[in-house]
Order: sequence, then structure tokens, then C-alpha cells
Amino acid sequence: MTRRSETLRAIGMAATVLEQSRHCVRTSFDIIGAVAERNVPLLFRPLDKLWGAFITVNDEARGIIVTTKLGLPVQRFTVAHELGHLLLGHRSSLDETVGFAGRNAPASRPAEEAAADTFASELLAPKQLLRASAKRHGWTRAKLHDPAHIYQLSLRLGISYQAACWALATADVLERAEAERLQSTPVKPLKQAVAPAVPMPNPWADVWALTEADSGTSLEAGPDDIFAVQVQDHASAGYIWRLVDANAESELLGERAPDLLRGYGAPTARVLYVRFRAAGVHQLVFEHIRPWSRATLSRIEIDIDGHGKERDGWARRARLDALGHAA
Ligand SMILES: [Zn+2]
Repeated sequence: MTRRSETLRAIGMAATVLEQSRHCVRTSFDIIGAVAERNVPLLFRPLDKLWGAFITVNDEARGIIVTTKLGLPVQRFTVAHELGHLLLGHRSSLDETVGFAGRNAPASRPAEEAAADTFASELLAPKQLLRASAKRHGWTRAKLHDPAHIYQLSLRLGISYQAACWALATADVLERAEAERLQSTPVKPLKQAVAPAVPMPNPWADVWALTEADSGTSLEAGPDDIFAVQVQDHASAGYIWRLVDANAESELLGERAPDLLRGYGAPTARVLYVRFRAAGVHQLVFEHIRPWSRATLSRIEIDIDGHGKERDGWARRARLDALGHAA
């Protein structure tokens, strides 16, 4: 089988898996669910030398192992890469790393590895998910050349910044050479640009720039991530946005004042910084209200799974399902 036909097979297989998957309000593809639906054992272990492995014994016993030492976006990409090996009928594979470039992988990458990379990229960053996030946030093709927007896109898709750069090349938004250049942009300044002035307790955490456009979505985030929510107060009509703290899990870290140069009475933008005190499933709710009458103009409601990366053992969802069945 030629390299090209193997890549085409990977693209076709990713499209099939996407068609078979349930669509929901998640902004990212549910890779853990896709593996579970196929009854493939998936285990997380503190592997030092491997990102992941696909293991098959006599075509009968098959399973996937992924390291706990990397962050959620890389774990997700590695799970997808190993699922690619499995569905494409490859032999066992011990992966010291995986490639984010997908169909843009360098020629030096072995054909089966490039195919598994391609499968992962096409599954986690398909055109329909790219388009959905871009449309929601008004990220035009021109805006998607800006690393700040690519970083925010990568958070919504649950993939690394580098993987998002390559996915945009696959979608013909970026030229290959531009993707190559942009993917080496350091991510830290992209976070700092939207982070609060106070130092972040965990410098590895992500900073989500959220707006009303994120309302109604379901995001998968890390336990220490910070949510920078931009709101427009219609102050002249007496309306202000406020955080609705339903269960005291959310904490307002502060806010950035409105732009003082705007005319008096005009809608003014503020950024409110929020984090959650504990890992878990949260709802981020803001109301645009008149404080004295409690009249509500609009609401922002965002579901956030803030567990972050998978820990040692079976996937978190599999453990919860097992507990549910036992109860
Ligand atoms: Zn591999």
C-alpha cells in the first residue's frame, strides 16, 4: 500500500467515525466516547518514554495505553492517534511521540505513523468543528492568521496550539509554510495577553477568552484554567453583568476596567476573570441585570468540564460508568 493511499484511507476512516458519532453542544470531539463506543480498552499510565501505544495480540486482544505525563490536549491527540492505528488495522505501535501535522507530516515520518497522525487531526479538528467555532466567534479566514485566535480555537477543539495550526493548513486557511512558522510561536505570551494582572497560580494553565458567543456551549478545561469573560454593560439603561455564583465554586479574581476613551453612555466592555476552586463539572453563569429591579436582559451559560487531564487508570468516564453500573 502506498503512503498516499494509506493517508486517504485515514481521512476516510476519520470521516466515518465522525458520521457515527453523536453531535452535541461540546465544542470538541468526544474522543473518549468514540473509543468507549468501540469497546476498546483504554488505560492511562505514567509512561516516561512513550506518549502512547497501540497493542494487539494475534488480532484478538487490542488495547490503547496513553501516558498521564502530558496535558489533556496531547493525551486526546495521542488517544486518537492510537485509535487510528487500531481502525486502520496496523500492527502494535509504541509511540515515543505523535505528530500534529497530519497530512502535512514530513516525508521522513513512516507511512503508518503519518496515517495515524492524519486520522487524529481529521477526527479532532474536522472542517465542521473548525467552522462551528469560527462562525460562533466571528473568526474570519483573515483573523485565523493571528496566533491569539488560533490559541483560542485550539482550546475549543481540545487540541494543542500546534495541532490547530496544522489543522488550519489542512483546511486551506493557512499555507503550509505559514503553519510551519506559526506553530513555533510560543504559547505563553498568548495566554499572558488575556490573563489577569495577578500572577497565575499554575503557569501551565490555559486562559480562555470567553464572550456571549460562548453561551450554550460545553467546554473541556483544566482545573486551574482561568476564564476571562468579556461583557458589554448597557450601563446607560442601568444594566450590568454579574457572575451568578450558584454553588460557591467559582471565584471572581478581578476585572479589567472599561475603556475610558469610549463615550459616556455607550456600551462599555469589561473583562471579568473567573476560576473554579475545585476540579469538577461546573456551570459558568452571568446575568445582565438591573440590580434594583432584577430585570434580566440576557444571560451567559457555559458548561465546563474542569477535570483536565486523565489520571492513572481507566479513563475518568469509564470509571464513573462502572460506579454507576455498580450502584
Ligand atoms: Zn503511532
